[in-house]
Amino acid sequence: MKIIRTARSMAAWSERLRREGVTIGFVPTMGALHDGHRSLIRAARLRCDALVVSIFVNPTQFSPTEDLTTYPRPIAHDRALCREEGVDICFEPTARAMYPEGFQTTVTVPSLALRWEGAARPHHFAGVATVVTKLFGIVQPHLALFGQKDYQQTALVRRLVDDLNLGVAIQVRPTVRERDGLAMSSRNIHLSADERRIAPLLSQALRAGRQMIEGGMSDVVAIERIMRQTIELAQTIHIEYLAICDPDSLEPLSVVTDRAVLLGAVRIGSVRLIDNLLVNMPGRKSRATH
Ligand code: AMP
Repeated sequence: MKIIRTARSMAAWSERLRREGVTIGFVPTMGALHDGHRSLIRAARLRCDALVVSIFVNPTQFSPTEDLTTYPRPIAHDRALCREEGVDICFEPTARAMYPEGFQTTVTVPSLALRWEGAARPHHFAGVATVVTKLFGIVQPHLALFGQKDYQQTALVRRLVDDLNLGVAIQVRPTVRERDGLAMSSRNIHLSADERRIAPLLSQALRAGRQMIEGGMSDVVAIERIMRQTIELAQTIHIEYLAICDPDSLEPLSVVTDRAVLLGAVRIGSVRLIDNLLVNMPGRKSRATH
């Protein structure tokens, strides 16, 4: 496995392989790799001839009050995981290389980035859209893989690629979870033992919501109430949002029909956790709630 740190060498490597007709797969990450990242890397390995993983903690998607400085950076562990999974290139640019002096062009985000994570973290998606566009320009992948864990991000990336004709195929892979249902996240290591014990309540609430919908309930207010009550079993979890939305526009639904995404964000101590579940019941149309 080769480690590349400059945009120029990365682009030169990709251009050479593209000329030879090699298909390039790409998994963008912020490092602190876990089994969620590993599943994306494995899926990409199966689908492409050459595989690039980027490790870059992108400063522009963090606000000044967020956890940029404390974000975990276990680079030796990350490189070992990439080696184990047969990654060809670990692309590790510096912030200076990505945003050199004089940098000023950014990508404006669509309306679907305004709600939920976008509302909680106002600069986040502009930072994500800009860095993804830059990484695609440098790595020039045929296929890029993202995790459903960051559902709104996947919707944004699909929109971005279509709107700006970026010419990269996007694949979204399911969320990888701990045994108790907690979605794997690089931030989970910041949870204390007590916080870790209650953290699965978020995924339990989403599961409860999905079960109600699958059982025939379509009253969004009633479903959201049950989800909220599930989380409020622990007094030390603060709910930022819980919502039942259209899976494409991410607008809140007033009645659930055949497709929905359940979105949630909570704060436990200083750690912010997000999660989501999709509901897909082809054939079901609007039904009364009883
Ligand atoms: P991050 O390093 O957090 O920016 O994540 C890099 C990629 O890994 C993103 O596409 C995430 O959605 C994905 N990812 C993070 N956690 C998980 C997980 N638990 N399961 C599947 N994919 C994940």
